Amino acid sequence: MSAPWLADIAERTLDAGLHREPVIRQPGAAEINLASNDYLGLSTHPDVIAGAHAALDTWGTGSTASRLVAGTTAAHVEFESDVADFLGFEAALAFSSGYLANIGAITALVGRGDLIVSDTGAHASLIDGCRLSRARVVVVDRGDAAAVARALAERTEERALVVTDSIYSIDGMIAPLRDYHRAAVDNGAILLADEAHALGVRGPGGRGVAAEHGLSGAPGLVITTVASKSLGAQGGLVLGSHLLREHLIDHARTFIFDTGLNPAAVGAAHAALRVLRADPAMPDRLRAGVRRLAEACGGEVPDAAVVSLIVGDPVAAVRAAALCREQGVFVGCFRPPSVPEGTSRLRLTVRADLNDDDLDFVAGVVRGALREVGAA
Ligand code: PMP
Repeated sequence: MSAPWLADIAERTLDAGLHREPVIRQPGAAEINLASNDYLGLSTHPDVIAGAHAALDTWGTGSTASRLVAGTTAAHVEFESDVADFLGFEAALAFSSGYLANIGAITALVGRGDLIVSDTGAHASLIDGCRLSRARVVVVDRGDAAAVARALAERTEERALVVTDSIYSIDGMIAPLRDYHRAAVDNGAILLADEAHALGVRGPGGRGVAAEHGLSGAPGLVITTVASKSLGAQGGLVLGSHLLREHLIDHARTFIFDTGLNPAAVGAAHAALRVLRADPAMPDRLRAGVRRLAEACGGEVPDAAVVSLIVGDPVAAVRAAALCREQGVFVGCFRPPSVPEGTSRLRLTVRADLNDDDLDFVAGVVRGALREVGAA
């Protein structure tokens, strides 16, 4: 028997148009997928698949234990070292997901009696890290660096952390990272920027927004990012100083008590990093596609690879996404609580491996679907 209140909640969720069903992908489906975060199309790249296979052959199917016990392989540390080198930081530490990397980093850096300044664009994993830390949390408007500085200057707590997405995940817009960083260091705080949507997409050779803003390896800056988006694999990363890495190994609970990242994911992510390094123009090709699709759909051209098309009503958004799918175009559909009330939307993530014909076809289908539900 299920808890009696579950049925009530289920009914209300359904009535509000907010019930969710995972979309099931089938093998060999002939559809264009713009609902993934596989920005560079690397999840199916032969070198990346070979990287996963090689790691499976060497290490088996699991990391077999937590990182501190027996779950750290040579592949883990070689990957961490290469990512740190690529992104211009002293050191990196890999977690088994980006979600856990954010929670682990935040809760290891601050706790009860400390302050966190977050903004309204922060990803759920940053929000959960803030909550779990038990620090006092001040939320400012997204992009408002002056408000970040004010909150830090007015604090009574000694230690403070600023957290933000460098590319806001909902609409692919960029955060004023340099201003946030200045506000943090001028006020004796640390800035943690989540570059999940920026790796492989922005910055020189896909090194992200921090690199684009000249902040690679800057004191007072911690970067988190993921292997699960443009690297086409799985896993989270925290980048900073050697001291930070040591601190996380000693204190980040999601590192200490979690089974180490799967070796196949490490092998895939490492191979993807090599592919990206060898083809630094990949992110430029991606952004040209983003511009083409956003303009053709009548949406705002984003800073990154996420094209958001506002529908408004959640039921209409679901219907528009279903209409696209019927015509072979798989798009994301975001509704509250993932986005604010009244801003349900189609979310299209462009991939560097799609050509202009693919993108023009997608734009035609999406425009038609939006018209059909009265949103264009
Ligand atoms: N941060 C941001 C900004 C994200 O969009 C996501 C993924 N949705 C994560 C962190 C979590 O990463 P992962 O999926 O690797 O857990």
